[in-house]
Amino acid sequence: MNPFIAMVIGAILGLKRVCPKCKRVQIVSSDKRRDTVPCKFCGTDIPPKR
Ligand SMILES: [Zn+2]
Repeated sequence: MNPFIAMVIGAILGLKRVCPKCKRVQIVSSDKRRDTVPCKFCGTDIPPKR
């Protein structure tokens, strides 16, 4: 899938996550939406927004 399209869909679904350390935006899979996930760029744990 086009990364831009994936980003838009992720934002709509609330799956977008911004790393607190490296500030990079990434999309988490929908089943991880309520879990703390590791940043795929630097490995920092990113807590869910809610
Ligand atoms: Zn990061």
